[in-house]
Amino acid sequence: MEDTIFDKILRKEIPSDVVYEDDDVLAFRDINPQAPTHVVVIPKSKAAGFDRLQSLSPEVVGRYMQGVARAAEKLGLGEGYRVVFNVGRHGLQTVAYVHAHLLGGRMMGWPPG
Ligand code: AMP
Repeated sequence: MEDTIFDKILRKEIPSDVVYEDDDVLAFRDINPQAPTHVVVIPKSKAAGFDRLQSLSPEVVGRYMQGVARAAEKLGLGEGYRVVFNVGRHGLQTVAYVHAHLLGGRMMGWPPG
């Protein structure tokens, strides 16, 4: 797997605005926010994308998903929020390290663009 910017953020080689961290996940503010709150959540065990989660154990994937929920709770998004996984070319994925976008702080639109 290629070494991505998120690998470097996880290794603390480049700075990021970390909002939540535990044994399973790292959550940091997106550098180009699309909502008042926009946080990226990555698992500490790497997969290259949502479409590569089969490479991880169900236990690790489950702990990742619970980590996304814990990060959202930490952000205090009581009015609700959106979780987005961009996948591949059509999904506009730009970083080959699976990441959940947590978006909140405003009313979302539907359908998404
Ligand atoms: P995606 O397009 O789903 O792959 O999302 C990648 C996201 O990473 C984009 O929303 C970028 O704004 C964000 N991003 C890229 N570099 C950084 C960085 N150094 N720190 C925080 N977020 C970043």
